[in-house]
Amino acid sequence: MKIYNTLNKRKEEFFPQRVGHVSMYVCGPTVYNLIHIGNARPMIVFDAFRRFLEYKGIEVNYVSNFTDVDDKIIKKAQEEGVDPTVISERYIEECKKDMEALNIKPATVHPKATEEIDEMLALIDELVLKDHAYVAKDGTVYFRTRSFKEYGKLSHKNLDDLEAGNRELLVSGEEQKEDPLDFVLWKPKKDGEPYWDSFYCQGRPGWHIECSAMSRKYLGETIDIHAGGEDLIFPHHENEIAQSESCSGQTFARYWMHNAFLNIDNKKMSKSTGNFFTVRDILRRYEPMVLRFFMLSAHYRSPLNFSDELMESAKNSLDRIRTCVDKLTNAINMSEGTMLARNEYAIVDGLSKYKMQFEEAMGDDNNTATAISTIFELVKYINVNMIEMSTKEGFTRMKDMLLLLCDILGLIVEKKEEVLDEDIEKLIDERQKARTEKNFARADEIRKQLLDMGIVLEDTREGVTWKRA
Ligand code: AMP
Ligand code: ZN
Repeated sequence: MKIYNTLNKRKEEFFPQRVGHVSMYVCGPTVYNLIHIGNARPMIVFDAFRRFLEYKGIEVNYVSNFTDVDDKIIKKAQEEGVDPTVISERYIEECKKDMEALNIKPATVHPKATEEIDEMLALIDELVLKDHAYVAKDGTVYFRTRSFKEYGKLSHKNLDDLEAGNRELLVSGEEQKEDPLDFVLWKPKKDGEPYWDSFYCQGRPGWHIECSAMSRKYLGETIDIHAGGEDLIFPHHENEIAQSESCSGQTFARYWMHNAFLNIDNKKMSKSTGNFFTVRDILRRYEPMVLRFFMLSAHYRSPLNFSDELMESAKNSLDRIRTCVDKLTNAINMSEGTMLARNEYAIVDGLSKYKMQFEEAMGDDNNTATAISTIFELVKYINVNMIEMSTKEGFTRMKDMLLLLCDILGLIVEKKEEVLDEDIEKLIDERQKARTEKNFARADEIRKQLLDMGIVLEDTREGVTWKRA
């Protein structure tokens, strides 16, 4: 299996530290609003990767945080005249609802920054003890960036270039820093802000230390994969490396995966610039699986431009898969035979080619775009070969393969309806009987009744078939 590692800027063979186990940390959202579909991109693409690893029999310890202390949360709380926890709890719940709708598996742990302050302070203490951090007069603790010799290795930036670009910082109120490149680990409280007691001052953590501390607590000093959007490479992930590795002396994350942006009009979708759609906005117009399909139809490292045309195309593509699943369900309902017929063996054997192709794509740096193309090739193969099939077993093998591949991507393509197949069959039999008795009024009535239940009948030469509308 290969992963493109931002650290070395190339695809590398992926070996976890422990065979059969993968530890993975994905930076989660700051919760002061409903999540937008840009935030949903890392959630969906890394969920698909996790599902693939699990399908391969690997146990994935998947941690994704909620940043629930932040200037934007505090500002929103002040506007509404409530405690910041009211805001963060509200949007954590809403985010979880969106995740569930999009079939994103809950993480093994979803730590909240405010519940891990002790871990953060422990890490800060260690950094101060090791001279990688220092305390300013007002109690702010800064990380001493130049003390970490490998600073810049993830973003491939040079310390001196960074310093040249950072000079203004010294004149903009941070004179107490030893060096403009130093960044905050702990900052003193301001009036009306949430704070925690510490040896340094009453205050709150900087953003970067949160992820270093939560990652260490739940996954240990060295993790296999650290992931997030590419906007996090610098400074967030660079700073996480500096903090964690200065402390432990060990590699913090072995593989770094970063998704490209979801754009509108080729500009990054972002809350701060106001050009965004929330997941909730989109779910008013499309069902959640269409959004999931849209995200997975592009490779995670390619920019993806959101447009109505692409969403419509995602909807149509998903419908094509669903029609195929429905046809197979129908065929299964209408056929018998628990053994394959002689002519069916070769056709069923042919299915495994698509599974191999699919696994190859997913194992090649989580290439969901190629994996989806493979699903369409499989749909085509099924459509072409169904005519040759006759047994329940044969149709079932086809359907199982199609559902398996969709399931690895977390795509739900089969609607679970309350109407039971046997109830439908009973009504169809009754309609057939009415027709033989030339009671066409009753036959039409039943057809309408089934339609109301979302069942469409098709009279074919081979008999009556049905599908869910
Ligand atoms: P934030 O709440 O801004 O910290 O973002 C949470 C996650 O969403 C991070 O992994 C970001 O990199 C990611 N993210 C934010 N905006 C976009 C976007 N337009 N496209 C892709 N990922 C994004
Ligand atoms: Zn983070």
